[in-house]
Amino acid sequence: METIYFDNNATTKVAEEVLEEMRPLFCDLYGNPSSMHTFGGQIGHRIKNAREQVASLLGCEPAEIIFTSCGTESDNAAIKGALAAVPNKRKVITSRVEHPAVLTVCRDLENAGYTVVEIGVDRFGRLDLDELEDQIDANTALVTIMYANNETGTVFPAEKIARMVAEKDALFHTDAVQAVGKIPLDLSGSHIDLLSLSGHKLHAPKGVGVLYVRKGTRLSPFMLGGHQEAGRRAGTENVPGIVGLGKACELAARNIELENTRVRNLRDKLEKGILEACPDCRINGDPENRLPNTTNISFEFIEGEAILLMLDKYGICASSGSACTSGSLEPSHVLRAMGVPFTAAHGSIRFSLSRYSTQKEVDFTIEIMPKIVNQLRELSPFVTK
Ligand code: PLP
Repeated sequence: METIYFDNNATTKVAEEVLEEMRPLFCDLYGNPSSMHTFGGQIGHRIKNAREQVASLLGCEPAEIIFTSCGTESDNAAIKGALAAVPNKRKVITSRVEHPAVLTVCRDLENAGYTVVEIGVDRFGRLDLDELEDQIDANTALVTIMYANNETGTVFPAEKIARMVAEKDALFHTDAVQAVGKIPLDLSGSHIDLLSLSGHKLHAPKGVGVLYVRKGTRLSPFMLGGHQEAGRRAGTENVPGIVGLGKACELAARNIELENTRVRNLRDKLEKGILEACPDCRINGDPENRLPNTTNISFEFIEGEAILLMLDKYGICASSGSACTSGSLEPSHVLRAMGVPFTAAHGSIRFSLSRYSTQKEVDFTIEIMPKIVNQLRELSPFVTK
């Protein structure tokens, strides 16, 4: 049985081209870039090249890129590093639908005496911008709002928010882990101060991420030790990971518009096919501003976990919420914040495609889905027979 991988918001396949670029760095060119000898020293230019590739995808300067170990580290570093740099301000604003890598950090700040405000969203997952504007005051150190939501794919107006925050003299961080590589981003002339991304969401390996820090933004160093990453993030570099991420960014930049359209068409076909074949379903997310690869569908009267298990029998990988929270049977905090009714939130499935997804995979899933839904609804105590 072949695997149909529709869980690309959880993680992605490493691109062959990325693997090829990384390969020599394990057993041949394994020196430490900080070493004085030529063998180690020759690695430095590969990191420099990767930094340029990432910067080119983001439209920023290479010096504005700090390599980290993952999206979670970038989020933690952005929030904690920004707050440490402005100790006189004690308020942080975020949204109710952030990934735990942001939400948990913000909630923890309350224990340290910060005022933390979580802005709500409407039923499409769209942020309440009026509430946000009202909340930014002279005591606000940082606003951290994601670029795109990992569960629904809803894209937030990050640049508009960044301008709003800049006018009020606070810092703006955006978790762009799900956006980078999927939609074009341009940080040249942007008001975004800090931005997080993660390699394994764009066909680079796990264990590497980036924090973009806009030139002139005050940020306290977040890993103390050696001089790596201009002293802001010490620790011997994950050279293969960094080089892989650079290549992945180059690949993403090369075809972003074309791939976008192709993936969006496949996603739309999948969504339409499922909605037509299965009654009592709804899409969760912004119909207009959504990542091209993501669809989150609620199937009334049945459990998302039961659907996942049945899909798994056919080799189809999807998700019933973010991978990090799927250990719990609580309905997703994102869907609850959107006011999705309990029965619908419980039966929600996220399909997330990639540039490797095919028409054949979409057709097969459309064929299988009504069988699964009918079978589970036959067993459901919530359906009147
Ligand atoms: N932020 C968002 C929006 C995510 O979707 C994820 C991972 O799913 C993360 C942060 C965490 O990234 P990482 O797995 O690289 O730590």
